[in-house]
Amino acid sequence: MPWRKTSDPYRIWLSEIMLQQTRVAQGLPYYHRFVDKFRDVKALAQADDDEVMKLWEGLGYYSRARNMLATARFVHGELNGAFPTDYEDIKKLKGVGEYTAAAIASFAFDKAHAVVDGNVQRVLARFLGIETAVNTTAGKKELAEAAQYMLDLEQPATYNQAIMEFGALQCVPRNPGCANCVLNTQCVAYANGQVDSLPHKNRKKYNRERYLHYFLIKQGQEVLVEKRSGPGIWQGLFQFPLVEAAESLTPQQLLNELFANLKVSVQKETALPPHKLSHQTLHIRILEVNISGRHAVKAEEGQQWVRVSELAQLAFPRPLRQYLDQIQLTLPFGT
Ligand code: SF4
Repeated sequence: MPWRKTSDPYRIWLSEIMLQQTRVAQGLPYYHRFVDKFRDVKALAQADDDEVMKLWEGLGYYSRARNMLATARFVHGELNGAFPTDYEDIKKLKGVGEYTAAAIASFAFDKAHAVVDGNVQRVLARFLGIETAVNTTAGKKELAEAAQYMLDLEQPATYNQAIMEFGALQCVPRNPGCANCVLNTQCVAYANGQVDSLPHKNRKKYNRERYLHYFLIKQGQEVLVEKRSGPGIWQGLFQFPLVEAAESLTPQQLLNELFANLKVSVQKETALPPHKLSHQTLHIRILEVNISGRHAVKAEEGQQWVRVSELAQLAFPRPLRQYLDQIQLTLPFGT
């Protein structure tokens, strides 16, 4: 990993923010694009919001990008461009939690803070035989304390990297290499036949179902878009006019909702595959409508007409971007 070969807090911070809830293979190209474009915290702090959101497009969990920008501007503007070196001060930065603060403190400044990610939790739960569920507050606390206790205070950065790598390569979730593991004579889970059952996890019960109905409204060579505001997913990204409901609505119900006084017909309707996030499933349908009469539909507050050729420059949530690519709406109509 390129960010493991550096002690530059900017690059370590950037990579950790990008890899939260993201697989390395998916995050790596984004990391390279960001450090190529914004070589240091000053460059990122001075970037345009829309440019950053566009570069982040597809990586998901967009609040990370907004927090990242806020932190870059804080570090550049208030701290003269120097990241704090103390764990508690690092943790106060927007979007930085315990894990990321420990990673920056340890990897950039060699401070004695244990980094506890999923790999470390798995190794410690097995090696020490910890049975408290790792996705509970009590389990997280117990494992964080165990991690801090086990930390090599002389070489915290090396130790942290080693145990993370050990979890990623040796003590993997399924079929770990116990037979040739250097720790197998001391490993509690191995001795007790608990390797497959540890770490314990409580089943998540809550899953919210959301029904998002988007209207792709074309007039001439223009499409109506709006920027998502307010808290929640995809804030700051562009989307088409939306009707959200607790259930799937029929095209007629939707047309009545948005175009009560206009003659509008649905030209095409597309249901996207369910989009699963950590606590919710999004059921997305896109209804393409053509409206005759130039500007029969007025852009409401927060909405704007954009030329089809400009859509490629705007940051859309991943499902909408995939849809646009699929129907090639980045090309002018009729080509
Ligand atoms: S013996 Fe198996 S479960 Fe225990 S630390 Fe090694 S790989 Fe992990």
